[in-house]
Amino acid sequence: MIPRTSLDVWAKKKIGAGTASLTRELISSYQLHKLQEIVRWAYYHSSFYRRLLAGFVETEMVCLDDLCRLPFTTDDDIKQYGLQFLCVSQSDISRVVTLESSGTTGPAKRLYFTPADQELTVEFFQYGMATFTAVGDKVLILLPGERPGGVGALLATAVSRLNAQPIHYGLVHSIPETLARIECEKIDCLVGIPVQVLALARYTGADALPSFRPKNVLLSTDYVSKPIVAELRNSWGCEVFEHYGMTEMGLGGGTGCAAHAGYHLHEADFYFEIIDPLTGQVVSDGQEGEVVITTLTRQGMPLIRYRTGDISRLLLEPCSCGSVLRRLAPITRRKEGSISLGIYGQFTMADLDENLFAVAEVVNFTAAVDCAHNATSLKIAALTTGQPGTSVVEKIHRALAAVPAIFLARQNGNLTVNVKAECCGDLLTPSAAKRAITEWK
Ligand SMILES: [Zn+2]
Repeated sequence: MIPRTSLDVWAKKKIGAGTASLTRELISSYQLHKLQEIVRWAYYHSSFYRRLLAGFVETEMVCLDDLCRLPFTTDDDIKQYGLQFLCVSQSDISRVVTLESSGTTGPAKRLYFTPADQELTVEFFQYGMATFTAVGDKVLILLPGERPGGVGALLATAVSRLNAQPIHYGLVHSIPETLARIECEKIDCLVGIPVQVLALARYTGADALPSFRPKNVLLSTDYVSKPIVAELRNSWGCEVFEHYGMTEMGLGGGTGCAAHAGYHLHEADFYFEIIDPLTGQVVSDGQEGEVVITTLTRQGMPLIRYRTGDISRLLLEPCSCGSVLRRLAPITRRKEGSISLGIYGQFTMADLDENLFAVAEVVNFTAAVDCAHNATSLKIAALTTGQPGTSVVEKIHRALAAVPAIFLARQNGNLTVNVKAECCGDLLTPSAAKRAITEWK
């Protein structure tokens, strides 16, 4: 029997369900109340929202569907009006996160959090981790953010509250060193970035395959492809869980349960909508579209109808773990993340991940095209375990041919593909950034 996600316990506590079971009706009624509260809070405390929400009276929101009458907020709003989003004085802010976006100019995107906002993140981590962390477990955290308020530090606090032992290691630089730590500390759970953890599992050097292997792995920060999950399950015999979050969500938006089918959404702190990215209309339940979030409980910098740019859909069938918390399908692409091959179709980094990581020797790769809107050339630079021979390059070419748009464009002479492969060795170049297909000029 699949254990129910522990996010359920937390949602129930926050929603105030008492001894009653959590139901969709209870969640909806709580969310409506919280939406009315946050719209009022934002309108009266933030100069940005005072302008944005002028003319909208929160008491007119009598059902959740009324939210769609409010305007969206976007990345550009955050960049342009930053501090005007604040509903508290700057002295009440304990954490500012600046998000770098490559290739763009203009003001940086900054998110502001109060201590109470950061506590929401710690609680989310605590209940998300509780799904697979037992009392006394040793949890190795292969994420950045050692300083107070950083992601690694918040996760370590959450793990301590479960009476488990966090070991905040940081990103992986040396594969043998990290594997030795897993062995020496007898690590039960490991939290890391997909390609970094894959490099540990596929390492073939002298110190490969520690006799002690983690029981549970949580992958975070980037897209999790099926071959990576399969590799970890096969090599380590572990369970693999997934997490959905972004800085704008205070890092925590959803977590996968033991049914391993999408992320249970954290509905006590967020209201999620899926919209048509072109028209802005809310789509029918189960249809694909852009994920839009409204923070229900954030004080410092609430986000109302914030367009995340992530494309996904809600999973409608009940989860086999028994939770009524809604589930989001894995994020396979961003609104802007598709590469067009004209009449042959499109492809994304997730398409490449699904096929290239199926090549057993590949531990990471970069992909670059000459033009995102009508690419005629694709360059893949792969890192492999051991010295790559011509057979590995051939395997990568074959894997690329499994992406329909690439196959068709290439067959018709409209796409050239260049593949290079080199041995990854013992050392990784650590990065916590989401991997993306780049464009060269
Ligand atoms: Zn579930």
